[in-house]
Amino acid sequence: MSAAISPSPINRFSLPDAGGHFGRYGGVFVPETLMTALQELGAAYDVARQDPTFQQELQHHLKEFAGRPTELYFAERLTQHCGGAKIYLKREDLLHTGAHKINNALGQGLLARRMGKKRVIAETGAGQHGVATAAVCAKFGFECVIYMGAVDMERQALNVFRMRLMGAEVRGVQAGQKTLKEAINEAMRDWVTNVRGTHYILGSALGSHPYPMMVRDFHRVIGREVREQILAREGRLPDEMIACVGGGSNAMGCFFDFLEEPSVRLVGVEAGGRGIQRGDHAARFEGGKLGVLQGCKTYILQNDDGQIELTHSVSAGLDYAAIGPEHAFYRDRQRITYAYACDDEVMAAFQLCSRLEGIIPALESTHALVHGLKRAKAMRSDEILIINLSGRGDKDVQQVAKILGVTL
Ligand SMILES: *Cc1c(COP(=O)(O)O)cnc(C)c1O
Repeated sequence: MSAAISPSPINRFSLPDAGGHFGRYGGVFVPETLMTALQELGAAYDVARQDPTFQQELQHHLKEFAGRPTELYFAERLTQHCGGAKIYLKREDLLHTGAHKINNALGQGLLARRMGKKRVIAETGAGQHGVATAAVCAKFGFECVIYMGAVDMERQALNVFRMRLMGAEVRGVQAGQKTLKEAINEAMRDWVTNVRGTHYILGSALGSHPYPMMVRDFHRVIGREVREQILAREGRLPDEMIACVGGGSNAMGCFFDFLEEPSVRLVGVEAGGRGIQRGDHAARFEGGKLGVLQGCKTYILQNDDGQIELTHSVSAGLDYAAIGPEHAFYRDRQRITYAYACDDEVMAAFQLCSRLEGIIPALESTHALVHGLKRAKAMRSDEILIINLSGRGDKDVQQVAKILGVTL
């Protein structure tokens, strides 16, 4: 399954190749027992993708269950505050369950139903993907098991309770660091054992083919709506778009339909944590190296022996050692550029956005805001900047209160 790096211009319809490679990134790195399952999934998705009935059904649920389309909101007071470019916020925070994750959970849920699966498993870190998956499983009547690190379960007790309320079984993982990476390992182990009747809803544009492509596709609705909305509102495309990057699903979904618009700058923002020193951040493009983690080849924070390094971010949703392979591909081609935001900047922008706009953003999304506010200041007032607000901050207020020293 090797593929040469294609020197041809970006062709968004031909990516990835049949082996799931985005240039030198991506691919399929799983135990033999999962190869068949991934091929079956890839084939089912390939049919569904081109089936108008599937797409209509998905549209229907995205509207009625998730609450699409989401607004493209002109942030008047943040714009005034920065004194530069017009700032628009894409309001994915308004979606059911609080973040963009429901787009993908619904898409994969429908696909699982088509494939005749009765049981769904998923991993979750902060719990957002777990909550979205639990909601979709309740809606479609699937048995649902969510794997979550024991440490994360303690930190995100409220999301654990939400999942259980919606009928999911949440299984704590005690291995290693007891966080997201170990939860993914456990979910893969479950999938190997129960592969015939079970679908694994992976939560980001990560893992083995077809996941990065499929998850991206389910989030492309974000960028499609943005295009329509900004054209209706301003009569032209934006000058720059910014999104935060954990695994990379909200960013890729937002950017994808602009890849062939050279006038639109695209910027992904990673978690700079306490600063770019080993173990203090999760900015894979700042000191990460090419490697294989949990199914795909991409940039990974690892030491010289290939051991995965500890990562840190104030936002659990960006706190992962690997970045989605498609991001690495477009970074090489300089089509998407990357920046990072640190915890203290995030804390400041979180409060600023809440106070000026009456919108409490997710800490993940606030990374995009931090960079967006810097950029807006440097841009002219006739320029347009769009920031993808991937989720709402309700889940984060307890943590923020603690950091600010406020007792609730
Ligand atoms: C999970 C999450 C992210 C990070 O995931 P991506 O796949 O990079 O989008 C970002 N924002 C919010 C609100 C999330 O819940």
